[in-house]
Amino acid sequence: MNLPPPLTAEARSAAAARGVAARQLRSGVRLALRDGDLRLAEVLADAGRDDDRGRALARMKVVDLLSSFRGIGPVRAAALMERVGIAANRRVGGLGHHQAEALLDALGEDRPTGRLVVLTGPSGVGKGTVVTQVRRMRPDVWISISATTRAPRSGEVDGVDYLFWSREHFARTVEQGGFLEWAEFAGNRYGTPRRPVLARLREGQPVLLEIELQGARQVRAAMPRAFMVFLAPPSWADLEARLHGRGTEDDAAIAQRLAKAREELAAAGEFDAVVVNDDVVRAAAELVDFL
Ligand code: ADP
Ligand code: 5GP
Repeated sequence: MNLPPPLTAEARSAAAARGVAARQLRSGVRLALRDGDLRLAEVLADAGRDDDRGRALARMKVVDLLSSFRGIGPVRAAALMERVGIAANRRVGGLGHHQAEALLDALGEDRPTGRLVVLTGPSGVGKGTVVTQVRRMRPDVWISISATTRAPRSGEVDGVDYLFWSREHFARTVEQGGFLEWAEFAGNRYGTPRRPVLARLREGQPVLLEIELQGARQVRAAMPRAFMVFLAPPSWADLEARLHGRGTEDDAAIAQRLAKAREELAAAGEFDAVVVNDDVVRAAAELVDFL
């Protein structure tokens, strides 16, 4: 018989540490559900992610998840699962789309209703400039403030342009599942705090996120009803000129951002709409139409 090779002591202790971390994460989630700090929809969305949090949540038993809610013990959870046709031993990762929808309906979780628009495009294409114009045209649109580990540029204000966080604070928030999406870009981390976005959407307010490509893909996976917009430069030369013209990065950082830009431009086809930023007011008006 072929037995797997025995694990080394190090591999065993690493596996044990991962097990402990996953159990801690699951008990944190149960407490947050009980206290109303987390919603079923958010847990189900996270369980689809390919990271440690996603994998730990996917392994959680559905009955344990449901019985975390105040007023739903294991008996009610089992009855609910039977009613919507979910096997008693099913794990969260094994839930089908319709089963997940049925649970959300059964729990009466109000679904997000506001329009979520995600704006992505290469660095220097003019996302920030277009978003500022949208703010003028549509003060009712809520524009998410991202957290970042990047240092503020001159004139940028903490809490207005970004939440400027330490790497430690950012990492803790990742572990706690506090981001709707996050990504590493040109040596820094950027993320969208989850709670304010969901709160605005629930109140029916339109929400705009301005984020890079990897983050946009995460939002699309977690919130399939989001409308994804790619902002493109009129030409490559325009993009280069804008990045240099902004004067906020040195040559090495510009080269790094342009290398990324090639990848990002290649992904434009994944988006629901492509807006060319030849003219700021016109591009903003197009974006406003989607909101
Ligand atoms: P991003 O947020 O995508 O990195 P910015 O909004 O900072 O880009 O814009 C980069 C530079 O391009 C800025 O100097 C800005 O003034 C300029 N810019 C933005 N939109 C246009 C446009 N339509 N035409 C010419 N220059 C533009
Ligand atoms: P900058 O350093 O030029 O402000 O931003 C660099 C890149 O990070 C831009 O493409 C910007 O759209 C993106 N970005 C800003 N906030 C977020 C965020 O919350 N999440 C992600 N994924 N990207 C962000």
